[in-house]
Amino acid sequence: MTVNELIKKSEDYLKESNIINYLADVKILIAFFMKISLAKLYAVQNERIKFNLDEYWQKLTEYQNGKPIQHITNRQSFYGYDFYVDNNVLIPRYETEELVDNIIFLIDNILTAENKPLTLIDVGTGSGAIAISLGLENPQLKIYASDISQLALNVAKRNIKQLKCRNVQLLKGDMLEPFIKNKIKTDFLVCNPPYIPKNQEISYRVKNYEPHVALFGDDDGLYFYRQIFKNWHKVVNKNGFLCFEHGYDQKKALEKLVKEYFPDQKYFFRKDINKKWRMLFVNIL
Ligand code: GLN
Repeated sequence: MTVNELIKKSEDYLKESNIINYLADVKILIAFFMKISLAKLYAVQNERIKFNLDEYWQKLTEYQNGKPIQHITNRQSFYGYDFYVDNNVLIPRYETEELVDNIIFLIDNILTAENKPLTLIDVGTGSGAIAISLGLENPQLKIYASDISQLALNVAKRNIKQLKCRNVQLLKGDMLEPFIKNKIKTDFLVCNPPYIPKNQEISYRVKNYEPHVALFGDDDGLYFYRQIFKNWHKVVNKNGFLCFEHGYDQKKALEKLVKEYFPDQKYFFRKDINKKWRMLFVNIL
């Protein structure tokens, strides 16, 4: 059987399953089994399959039963870098690449004008995707990344090593606590907290495979924003920025909180590429 024939057969097998991304995921799985990048798959489409097909069909069935493709391949690309992921961390999302983009813009255009070394903290880093991509893109930044979960920190540590990132230091602890304890002051506080409201219906694939500690933010999904809004002044420098990702329907509620907790600061929201409000930035004056 050729690569193309296997793609076709797998697509037929999954067609009825109501899985949104299955066309792309089949190719990811075959590339994984062939130990090549997805980009190279096209070039080998007429080659014969040499890997163990029983094993392949077993993995495809696990996928059909709900397992995320990233948990089968232990891989997710984020900001052009290949991250190791497993069920101890949230799988990095494309929306979050836009958060990284916006932060790079702020670093390039606003704060480096001051010409001093900058510090950034990533609260609840999970796989380390945000902190490590920012670290690799900006080697001059000093970055600290925290997580409450040691298992998540182990994944972040593995990614730091795998991607040869030299400017991210990991800290264990709840929200701002490790930064306050270590008297770390920062120019950027970045956080993509768990923001899904406790009772919101979410897809089976997400709910049953991704860590709930990284998904749910209490009744309204805003619990972790409140935690940071109450304590930011203990860690963020003057002229610094707080940068958040948030849920597509949370702008209004979040803006109300911002007005309450930051009456004297500047703030703005940004949409993601799907035109959904997705990011909040607060500039400490
Ligand atoms: N964006 C993720 C989702 O929709 C949620 C991530 C988060 O809570 N920060 O599944």
